[in-house]
Amino acid sequence: MSVMEMSHRSKVFDDIIKTAEAKLRSVMGIPENYKVLFLQGGATQQFAMIPMNFMQGGTADYVVTGTWSKKAYQEAQKFGEPKEAGNGLDRDEAYIPRQDELTLNPDADYVHICENNTIAGTKWDYTPDTNGVPLINDMSSCILSEPVDVSKYAMIYAGAQKNMAPAGLTVAIIRDDFLKEVPASVPTMLNYNIQVKGESMHNTPPCWPIYVLMEVLTWIEGKGGLEAMKKLNEEKAAVLYDYLAESTLFKTQVDLKSKSLMNVCFNTGDAELDAAFAKEAADKGMPNLKGHRSVGGLRASIYNAFPIEGVEALVEFMREFEAKHA
Ligand code: PMP
Repeated sequence: MSVMEMSHRSKVFDDIIKTAEAKLRSVMGIPENYKVLFLQGGATQQFAMIPMNFMQGGTADYVVTGTWSKKAYQEAQKFGEPKEAGNGLDRDEAYIPRQDELTLNPDADYVHICENNTIAGTKWDYTPDTNGVPLINDMSSCILSEPVDVSKYAMIYAGAQKNMAPAGLTVAIIRDDFLKEVPASVPTMLNYNIQVKGESMHNTPPCWPIYVLMEVLTWIEGKGGLEAMKKLNEEKAAVLYDYLAESTLFKTQVDLKSKSLMNVCFNTGDAELDAAFAKEAADKGMPNLKGHRSVGGLRASIYNAFPIEGVEALVEFMREFEAKHA
């Protein structure tokens, strides 16, 4: 019987979910005073759960640095009056606003950031000082790609499907003292306290992705943990960024001091040429290089599982394309 068939109340599955949590705590260095929750609904469901549970004073600060942080901000508007505390999309280049560009409200219930902007191709290169206001971090597209100091955050969350496991699992890591009693009107499954009380098994959890997460964490341990993953990811991204720095055809539209290691965005400045590149690359066995439909251009997503050989093959093809089109 496989993990997809057995009861989630069985001893075998109990060992799996406990091992997955213990390994996540050990690999990420999650302190004892944080709860780890295995939820469903994707990171998008967190966009609603967070204000429903934590925006009890009626306002929170959202830094809008990409498509997903914007969606989180818009969702929070259904539950109160969140404010935009900063923006990273209002210039030609995508960027991460500096500390002195943030307008932080000392009375906010929390500050929300998205560490790695999957579509814009930026990543926070510093942790904002919120002056004691709890900080929440959407790490969906960078979790497990490098070490993180969990103690800086009141909450971290991530959809599993980039670096953790197949879609269907969402991980939330919440500091004990940030958890709050919530109004009775909050639906059962959207109440963090009920999920904590049920130890992520108030109802049937996503057993298969939790099992795969356990295996992925064993793989990361074997690689040498998150320090080693960071080194690998930096090497991989450097192959692309170094080439982009010297290319006369391709450029990146990202402020390089906050460049993403997971999502490398670039373009030729000519939408037709970008499309021709994406098509030729796909013909060569390199599909999915078209930028997200909302921003255009080109994007190489090079998550933990993607090998450096693939990045090298891409750059080799970019050089050939450049030689033909320069
Ligand atoms: N946040 C970020 C940073 C993402 O990259 C994504 C998905 N690409 C989401 C949120 C939404 O995740 P989900 O599909 O799990 O709802």
